[in-house]
Amino acid sequence: MKGRIMTASERRFLDEQKKKLIAILGARPNKDGIKNEIRQHDAGDMSSDLTNLGTEVAVLDCDYQQKRDARIALQKMEEATYFECSECEGKISIRRLTAIPQALVCIRCKDLSEQGQYHDVAPVRIGDLLPQTV
Ligand SMILES: [Zn+2]
Repeated sequence: MKGRIMTASERRFLDEQKKKLIAILGARPNKDGIKNEIRQHDAGDMSSDLTNLGTEVAVLDCDYQQKRDARIALQKMEEATYFECSECEGKISIRRLTAIPQALVCIRCKDLSEQGQYHDVAPVRIGDLLPQTV
C-alpha cells in the first residue's frame, strides 16, 4: 500500500473495514463487569460460581482484546500499514482481514502465537480473583 495510489476497489475495501472496526469499538460487551459473588458455604455453589466467574472473565478479556486490536488496526490504516503483519511485516491476506477486520498479524504469525511461540498479553489467572482466606 505504501508509496502508490490506491485503486477504487482498495479504497472501498478499506472504507468497509473501517466501518467494521468502528462498530467493534462501539459494541458493548455482553457483560457489564464482573459482579458475581462467590458463595463459600457450599462446595457445589462455590464451584458453580467459580465457573461462572471464569466465563465472565474470558468474555471481558476477549472484548478488551478485540477493542484494543480494532484501535490499533485503525491506527495502521492511518499509517497505510493495515495490510502489513505487525510481527513479520509480511502481508495479511484480504480474506483474513475480511473475516477479522482487527487482525494485526498474518495467519502464520497467529498460528505461531497460538502454539505459544510468543504472547503479548499475560493470561488472567483465576487464582488471582479468589477471595483470600485468612
Ligand atoms: Zn506475520
